Amino acid sequence: MSSQSSRQKGDDLVFPGERLGVIEEFVPNSGTYVEDGIIYSKIIGRALIDFLNKRVSVYPLIQVAKVPKVGSMVLGLVSNVQTENAGVRIFQIDNKHLSGIFTGILHISDVHLRYVDSMFDVCKPGDVIRARVISEKNRVYHLSTKEKDLGVVYAFCSQCGYMLEPKRQVMRCASCGKIEKRKIALDYGKGMV
Ligand SMILES: [Zn+2]
Repeated sequence: MSSQSSRQKGDDLVFPGERLGVIEEFVPNSGTYVEDGIIYSKIIGRALIDFLNKRVSVYPLIQVAKVPKVGSMVLGLVSNVQTENAGVRIFQIDNKHLSGIFTGILHISDVHLRYVDSMFDVCKPGDVIRARVISEKNRVYHLSTKEKDLGVVYAFCSQCGYMLEPKRQVMRCASCGKIEKRKIALDYGKGMV
């Protein structure tokens, strides 16, 4: 089956302190440490043995498992907002936290089933947003919030930073009384982040 000289032992889950080999055999790489000539795993992850270069590494589980894909449900922090686009820093995919940073873009045509006038009525920097990945290009993830359970899940007053409460069609700050607009998810303010 394997005619390759390099091979991934991708399914081998290893734990801190687990023996991976000896330095006569392999070069210890990331996620490992050496004691008395023996290579151990430093972290919980998947061991990768590169037989071609004689290297052994351990990759953190999350990093291996979780990269946004088309169809993924993601949570992100709104980082910037312009009239037609919002930038989102994705920090969670399908309920799993990420170690890396992924950039998402929400375009105004993907916010709602109906027409939306301005992105400033959808979200603001600092809000937490739940969205679906609809396409990917050069590791930039295009997002949609058209479904009912998608949209802003936590929003904060742009004047005082207090969490906004939904009041009919608008959002109201319970602290300073400021009225703002958002496209909120059905379970706004109830989920765990
Ligand atoms: Zn306020």
